[in-house]
Amino acid sequence: IAKKDGENRFRFYNEELNKEITEYFDNMKMIIKALEEKRFVFYLQPIYDTTTLNVTGFEALVRINHPEKGIILPVKFIDIVEKSALLKDFEKYLFEMIVDYLKKMYSVFNCYYNIAINVSVNSFKTKDILLYAKNIPQELIRFVNIEVTERVFAENTEDIIYVLNELKSLGFTIEIDDFGTGYSSLSYIEKIPTDIIKIDMSFVRKINQCSKTKAVVKTIIELAKGLGLKTIAEGVETAEQYNILKALGCDFVQGYYFAKPLSLDDVLSYIKEKKHIS
Ligand code: C2E
Ligand code: MG
Ligand code: MG
Ligand code: MG
Repeated sequence: IAKKDGENRFRFYNEELNKEITEYFDNMKMIIKALEEKRFVFYLQPIYDTTTLNVTGFEALVRINHPEKGIILPVKFIDIVEKSALLKDFEKYLFEMIVDYLKKMYSVFNCYYNIAINVSVNSFKTKDILLYAKNIPQELIRFVNIEVTERVFAENTEDIIYVLNELKSLGFTIEIDDFGTGYSSLSYIEKIPTDIIKIDMSFVRKINQCSKTKAVVKTIIELAKGLGLKTIAEGVETAEQYNILKALGCDFVQGYYFAKPLSLDDVLSYIKEKKHIS
């Protein structure tokens, strides 16, 4: 009986493994095809000044516009891309695409909006981000914010600081994403060249229920102010969360309560509508 169980277990793991491998290769094929056919698109989520609720810019969030499956979210592909040799082509492409989006918005509104682009940790480690960044036309650099997750500081902090300084001297605005979830050592925050801290949505989600979370967020905002940095709260889903963040002095807000990430067409009509109202 023992032997039989063992065999069953072996077969079970084999099937699981097979399924995983098949899924991985299917996703990989889908990503390669998406690159070849230029099926990556950005959805843009508006970011608002907390006090005026004016749109001050957008975060660009990548999706695959799949011919049969529709819009595919990053959870399905971003890890695979980041760990593969496709990353270079992928990020190079996204940096070209951001320029298109800026120009398209300009052609409609006659002004540029700030757009933040997420960059993978690996492109910081390899410094490839500097190559992509240098492809952005000089006059557009000040409208591009570069987001990097706080986890980037888990290792090689000196190298990362070098890259951030280069980006800043080129004129980019730097945002530390998912703040409070990664390395989270107070000793690094004063050393890193950054402009904006994005308060992770895991805090925002609990801010109206948990006084300790509220205290943490209050401290992050005060810390940022003390260092001359701005704060964006992400994942704001309710009026209550918004009101607390406003009272705490958070500079900008972003989240489903205000708007979901929108296709470029939807962004264009959204802004037009907002302008009619105000
Ligand atoms: P992130 O940069 O922290 O982006 C925020 C995520 O939260 C986005 O998910 C956004 O759609 C979602 N979100 C915004 N507001 C709310 C809200 O009120 N409630 C909830 N529950 N979610 C909200 P998305 O677009 O699925 O992206 C997930 C992650 O994938 C991003 O997290 C980022 O780490 C990565 N990612 C997205 N686009 C890119 C990209 O172009 N390049 C790279 N390297 N990574 C990207
Ligand atoms: Mg982000
Ligand atoms: Mg992130
Ligand atoms: Mg984030």
